[in-house]
Amino acid sequence: TAKFFVGGNWKCNGTHASVEKLVADLNAGDVPADIDIVVAPPFIYIDYVRANIKGAYAVAAQNCWMKPDGAFTGEISAEMMDDAGVPWVITGHSERRLLLGESNRTVGLKTGHALEAGLSVIACVGETLEQRNGGNLYHTLDLQLQALFENVQDWGKVVIAYEPVWAIGTGVVASPEQAQEVHAYVRKVLGDRLGKATSEGIRIIYGGSVTDANCAELATQDDIDGFLVGGASLKAPAFINICNARG
Ligand code: 13P
Repeated sequence: TAKFFVGGNWKCNGTHASVEKLVADLNAGDVPADIDIVVAPPFIYIDYVRANIKGAYAVAAQNCWMKPDGAFTGEISAEMMDDAGVPWVITGHSERRLLLGESNRTVGLKTGHALEAGLSVIACVGETLEQRNGGNLYHTLDLQLQALFENVQDWGKVVIAYEPVWAIGTGVVASPEQAQEVHAYVRKVLGDRLGKATSEGIRIIYGGSVTDANCAELATQDDIDGFLVGGASLKAPAFINICNARG
């Protein structure tokens, strides 16, 4: 199985004081050496976290622009992240899709460009409750994945996060069976398109109301290779427990 991966998406949360404390608390905890752990602070705190967090943790940005530097007021380029020692970026988070209007095409372009700039990418997919209840779960995922296929050349630096929108920040976690079913589907689509060996090397992580109470059971599922954690990543003890989900 692929190397376990845990991401902490801090979203738009924090103050200098709370970030300092979170970093100190994470530094004081024990996490397995043989997994990947990535934390994604708000842009303005990334450099502090990068400079002060211990080596077990890598940093990510929560978004990037789809082009190199230029006249794009308010945006931050993947080239700048690479230059600033930020190795990872999250693309296509549902909050950006739904609140900022990012289309599948935009997410595809951002993902492709970030990879070309040398970053590794956590690319998010997932359906709304309406899409699921309307029988459009797989169609939604197909379109989201298609936009990635059109823009990604090298899948070696991509992690896919399955984050059902109805599970994000709601306390309604997908059951292990529900999550496994979708992860297996994503794996199959990747396999059909890229071949079995490549698809088995791609981490497919689950996000949406993951806590230290539900992570262990989710982690036993065949196609769940880790987590993308929101709320619980802001509390060091919970996040450290999730990093230890595989025991
Ligand atoms: P919660 O863990 O707060 O549900 O958020 C999940 C998420 O969106 C991570 O990117």
